[in-house]
Amino acid sequence: MYHYSAMNPLRYYDYDGRELTKTKLPRQAGVFYLDDTIAHNVISFLNNCHKRGVDLSAGEHYRTEAYNQKLIYDFDHKKNPNIIKRPAENSLHRAGFAIDIANFNSLSYSDKAIVVEEANRAGLQWGNSFSDPVHFYKEVPKGQKNRMYYIKLADEKYDKFLFEGAIKAAASKCNPHSVNTTQPELLP
Ligand SMILES: [Zn+2]
Repeated sequence: MYHYSAMNPLRYYDYDGRELTKTKLPRQAGVFYLDDTIAHNVISFLNNCHKRGVDLSAGEHYRTEAYNQKLIYDFDHKKNPNIIKRPAENSLHRAGFAIDIANFNSLSYSDKAIVVEEANRAGLQWGNSFSDPVHFYKEVPKGQKNRMYYIKLADEKYDKFLFEGAIKAAASKCNPHSVNTTQPELLP
C-alpha cells in the first residue's frame, strides 16, 4: 500500500507495500521503528525466545542519517567505547530492517544458541558473520544493492511520523482540555 502525495511527486514508493512502522514489541518499553515486514519476524523471535526462557531486550532499530553519522563519527574519533564496530553508511538499521539485542553478549552460551536458533526460525539473519553478534536483520528485497532505495523510503516515513507528532503536539497546545500530548519518540 502506498499513498500518492500531490505535494511531493518525488516521494519514494515501495510497490510491494513495505514501509517503516511504529511497532510495540513484546515485553519492551517504548516504540520501535521497523519495516513492517521485519516487525512480524522480530515479534515472533522475541516471543519464542521468551517461551524458551530467554528474555531479550531490544535495542537499536531504525536510525536516522544524523544519528548513524554520529555513531560513525564517535567510532572514528574513539568517543564511544560501546561502539565496537564502525556502522555502515547503508546499515540496515537505516532502512528499519535490523534490530540489535542489547543483552545478547551477557547471555550464557546455551541461551545464545537458543536465540540464534529462534532468529533463524523467525526468518532473521545474524550479524555474527561480520563480527556484530547483537545484530539481527533481514536483507532488503532484491538484495543489498537496493538498500539506498529502502533507506530513502524509511527516512520519508520517519519524517512523516515526526511531522504528525508535531501537528498533534501543536493541536494539544491549542486545546487546554486535550490530554493527548504524544510526541514522537526521539532516538537515543
Ligand atoms: Zn545492529
